[in-house]
Amino acid sequence: MGTNTAPGVLERRKRGTEYMQALVFRGRHQIAIEEAPVPRAGYGEAVIRITLTTICGTDLHIVRGEYPVHPGLILGHEPVGVIHELGPGVTGYEIGERVLVGAITPCGQCEFCLGGRWSQCGGALGGWKLGNTLNGAQAEYMVVPHAMANMAKIPHGLSDEQVVLLADIASTGFSAAESAQLKLGDTVAVFAQGPIGLCATLGAKLKGAGYIVAVESDPVRMQMSRRMGADVVLNPQEYDVAYEIKRLTGDGVDVAIEALGLQETFENALKSLRPAGTLSSLGVYSGKLELPLDAFHAGLGDIRILTSLCPGGKERMRRLMELVQHGRVDLTPLLTHVYSLEQLPEAYETFGERRNGVIKVAIRPRVVDEQC
Ligand SMILES: [Zn+2]
Ligand SMILES: [Zn+2]
Repeated sequence: MGTNTAPGVLERRKRGTEYMQALVFRGRHQIAIEEAPVPRAGYGEAVIRITLTTICGTDLHIVRGEYPVHPGLILGHEPVGVIHELGPGVTGYEIGERVLVGAITPCGQCEFCLGGRWSQCGGALGGWKLGNTLNGAQAEYMVVPHAMANMAKIPHGLSDEQVVLLADIASTGFSAAESAQLKLGDTVAVFAQGPIGLCATLGAKLKGAGYIVAVESDPVRMQMSRRMGADVVLNPQEYDVAYEIKRLTGDGVDVAIEALGLQETFENALKSLRPAGTLSSLGVYSGKLELPLDAFHAGLGDIRILTSLCPGGKERMRRLMELVQHGRVDLTPLLTHVYSLEQLPEAYETFGERRNGVIKVAIRPRVVDEQC
């Protein structure tokens, strides 16, 4: 950790360039808080001052070198902030308004967006720009691309903490049940209760699941899973989970949600389905994924396998905030730890190593000011 002040910074400061603190990725296992210029808003863009953000499991993949991004990138894709600057062409907003921006920031104009496939804006995974192909939210300021499609105004009375987890984990987690077109009274199994799996459990409950079985071995997460709506939580270290799920449900579940991205959990999800069931997959897989043909009924079982990437855009965020505003969703128990921006490298360690019962960390760029 530490602040890098590049040569010439003081010189440029004299000429009026403003600087901010940001978490910059320099290479595998190389992240640090650095000084970077406060960005300016181009056409159709806005700059927001970040008031709250968090770290995602995907950021860990980036830092570990498992997902490539270019060195020098500011990480983070879960921003809550205040509008600081509006670029030319942006109307309907004012400086100082509080906004939530989804992890996925579609353009709203391309054929994918206009076809309703916002996450795949412009091509495969193209909706994911922040902290991937553009500078992200783990900074004091951030550019919002396609601002009018992506800045969702936060209703009065909702705190940053109440909405920050909607940007990614809630949107992603809930989408599992939505993509599966879960019906009232369906039986559901959710594999892994990390932040996204926990939201998938809550999403299944919101969509009217009749019975929810979660699979998780971490005691803190097992407990949280019940709070999010699981009726039973099975520890995979103690059970043959597919067998146990079939025993509990009679014939297997209508919907199995995979929220980890491993061969083993994918396979167990498939094995725990009843015939004509749906496997709704959220996990990020690497290498090769194999299909066990017995669980697949040799291809004749009317099984559906679906994948989803986090739905984004301001309308998605507005709908999710509606759920929070009217008390149907409370994700604040998942924010187990709070850090300042300067403490981000430490927060990455705690989050990455799952220390002290961490589920999600809240990063407040101005933690000292706000607590005074
Ligand atoms: Zn994420
Ligand atoms: Zn688009």
